[in-house]
Amino acid sequence: MDTETSIMITPTEIMEYLFCPRFTYFFNCLNISQHEEMRFKVIKGREIHNKKIITNRDYLRKKIKTESKEISVYLASQKIKVRGIVDEVLFFRDNTASPLDYKYTDYKDYLFETHKIQLILYGMLINEIYNKPVKKGYICYVKNNPKLKEIIFSVNDFIFAKNIVNEILDVILKNYYPMKKTKNLNKCIDCCYKNICD
Ligand code: SF4
Repeated sequence: MDTETSIMITPTEIMEYLFCPRFTYFFNCLNISQHEEMRFKVIKGREIHNKKIITNRDYLRKKIKTESKEISVYLASQKIKVRGIVDEVLFFRDNTASPLDYKYTDYKDYLFETHKIQLILYGMLINEIYNKPVKKGYICYVKNNPKLKEIIFSVNDFIFAKNIVNEILDVILKNYYPMKKTKNLNKCIDCCYKNICD
């Protein structure tokens, strides 16, 4: 979390919260660091660049017809309270814009939900910063079986993503111990906080 000038949540913190809200509590409120080698699976599958991935990336990008684009754009908003670097901001002929994020992993349903919320937040940031309507976003999965996902954003998507940010802020700023925890107990097996978590 950025605490130097204002409080802004990062994509990694969103991922951690979606993995399990209590993970956010242990890491941020009790300052119990995770050991890098024990970090949960979502983060552990960290992205590795290689030649094949770059080829897949170019192949997927050509499927989207854009007017222009900006690459590796730092986006931050004190209003939305989120900051991060989106891989591309795409601009379309109809004056709309969209975020595009590359994921150097295989497509998986359970990961997709997490990636989708990050993308929605990037969409909100683009809307505020560029003052353009943002109706959809793209995720390119480029590891083995390249896949391009187009996600149409709804009003409810924006509300849901904003609520997630507010929940994370509650945990971090108010030391709120989340009653909500992961429903998937398999996650606890690899979690570095399993010995102190009830
Ligand atoms: S042990 Fe399970 S419930 Fe506790 S923080 Fe880790 S994932 Fe969440």
